Amino acid sequence: MTGHIMPTYGRLDITLDRGEGVWLWDQADKRYLDALSGIAVCNLGHAHPAVHKALCEQSAKLVHTSNLYGVALQEQLADQLTAKSGMNNVFFCNSGAEANEASIKLARRFGHQQGITNPAILVMEKSFHGRTLATLSATGNLKIQQGFAPLVEGFIRVPYNDVPAIEQALQQHDNIVAILLEPIQGEGGVNIPAPDYLNQIRVLCDRHDLLMMLDEVQTGIGRTGKFLAYQHNGITPDVCSLAKALGNGVPIGACLAKGKAAQVLTAGSHGSTFGGNPLACSAALAVLATLDQERLIEQAEAKGGKIVQGLTRQLKNNPQVRAIRHKGLMLGIELDSPCHDLVGDALTRGLLINVTNETTIRLLPPLIIDAEQIDSLISLLSNVIHAHTARR
Ligand SMILES: *Cc1c(COP(=O)(O)O)cnc(C)c1O
Repeated sequence: MTGHIMPTYGRLDITLDRGEGVWLWDQADKRYLDALSGIAVCNLGHAHPAVHKALCEQSAKLVHTSNLYGVALQEQLADQLTAKSGMNNVFFCNSGAEANEASIKLARRFGHQQGITNPAILVMEKSFHGRTLATLSATGNLKIQQGFAPLVEGFIRVPYNDVPAIEQALQQHDNIVAILLEPIQGEGGVNIPAPDYLNQIRVLCDRHDLLMMLDEVQTGIGRTGKFLAYQHNGITPDVCSLAKALGNGVPIGACLAKGKAAQVLTAGSHGSTFGGNPLACSAALAVLATLDQERLIEQAEAKGGKIVQGLTRQLKNNPQVRAIRHKGLMLGIELDSPCHDLVGDALTRGLLINVTNETTIRLLPPLIIDAEQIDSLISLLSNVIHAHTARR
């Protein structure tokens, strides 16, 4: 590998060359089952014909104009996103961190409009919101913040899945204007909160006139079995950030707002050169159409359940497996000790997975995974786990 890439990633020793559906091939033509989807990005799998067609047609027509002019595909995409989410309007950008930056700026401006000159946002322990200065400051992980002080101020942190801790913080501070959280924590270890956690936060936000801001960058676009994870709770937030799977690999992010939050960012208050350009929007429109046509979101819960059932059967006698968690096709298998080695073991056997929060194996397979591929995933992964735990 070239030495001219900044070493910000500890990369695995393969280079992927092409893909089709759930499969990837490296430069040596070895095949891998992708159970990570480029970290919750390629929900339609690799080289999906609908995305390919949209990109070919749009790139022959118009790639970019800038947001100084009307962008028809952006308007179409905003119409569909608001209809599917129950939100009112959308700001388009290029990544999850940027979508959260928009949320954070929106919350601060909302505070200032109410006469709060030092607005604070309540954030969670073990959260992940991105790598820009504001979003890494919001992130609840010291490793990610290490070396980047002074951090952006204006964040107050409480434990995840702990409503009394939020109530206490609201009593202690009179400058909180918003609560920012993930409906399920991804990087933090696939942490699934109590079923009514989001509902309770909705009630608190209404009572205290706070913005409820959900980071759905990982959970959104069907991953958990609903278009957005908050739809399991029958609520809508005031602000919602999206990215990852929205373009199936073409960079696009979105910050959606509703009600009073939808009026906060006005002309000149925020922007992005690339945000929502015709090429990225054409990919996102193809993604939304394909999710509907192939009824993929409706199948995510059953597919995830089948993976959990299979893994539970294979691993039930393994005392080092502590828990298996899932919502739709977002899955975590927690072991009783750090298990980073597992990623390399799986790679050797032709399976792409990830380990997060030291001890949790994370699976984010493409939503298009079929029954036979699910069986392969179960058998490959349980073999990798048994081999790993047998060595310890
Ligand atoms: C990946 C992720 C982000 C950051 O997205 P980028 O596109 O890498 O900036 C933010 N929030 C959550 C929950 C994520 O999973």
